[in-house]
Amino acid sequence: MKKKKITAIVLAGGSGSRMGASCKKQYLPLGGRPVLSYSLQAFQESCVDAIVLVSQEAEYCKKEILEKYGIDKGTKIVPGGKERCDSVYAGLLAAEDSDYVLIHDGARPFVTQKMIRDSIRAVETYHACVIGMPVKDTIKIADEQNCARMTPKRDNIWQIQTPQTFSYPLILEAYRKVREEQPKGITDDAMVVEYGHFAKVRLIPGSYRNIKITTPEDMEIAEVFLRNYEKEKEC
Ligand code: C5P
Repeated sequence: MKKKKITAIVLAGGSGSRMGASCKKQYLPLGGRPVLSYSLQAFQESCVDAIVLVSQEAEYCKKEILEKYGIDKGTKIVPGGKERCDSVYAGLLAAEDSDYVLIHDGARPFVTQKMIRDSIRAVETYHACVIGMPVKDTIKIADEQNCARMTPKRDNIWQIQTPQTFSYPLILEAYRKVREEQPKGITDDAMVVEYGHFAKVRLIPGSYRNIKITTPEDMEIAEVFLRNYEKEKEC
């Protein structure tokens, strides 16, 4: 049987406005190197065959990240779009000959080899899977007056992370449907698949350390997590 081609699509096409920094959050220095370089290096060291990087800053990424950290798995750089889902679609078009794609936020530096391996193993069976963790806090659904309307049972609530991993034809078709029908409120790739009932999306435990850098305090947390990162990234 022909070996399946696996591509990682790493998203760095956002403006990072919630960070309020002059530099986009995916390029902020963490332990002396850009946030984005960590996840790219993790995919470089994994069993994925190719990397598609979605970024408007192709020259900077090429010189300061890809060349500097030896990321050379047939890496293509394509420009992103206005919304995250536009950037994902641009990445999907550039990953045209893949069998499976792992879609990952470049602002999530602490993806591990285990998360990548578990995602690939699960997608072979389920066709759609996402990394996440059960929530630790109680969640309230609020009404328009900011009063608690209901409290869902915590046991089945997960906070969803990336990578989100799919069979390539399935996620491409799901994205085409969403782009045609333009439903409101799609915030991740799993929702794109759920919208069209293309597959059941399997949830795989990741790590509470697999944070997304969004606001300034996330950088402080990331500096702390970095202390154990070298030890844990291979696990
Ligand atoms: O904005 P948010 O934190 O949800 O972004 C998640 C990831 O998606 C980030 O890595 C960001 O760079 C990327 N993104 C993108 N194109 C956009 C918006 C976000 O590639 N238009």
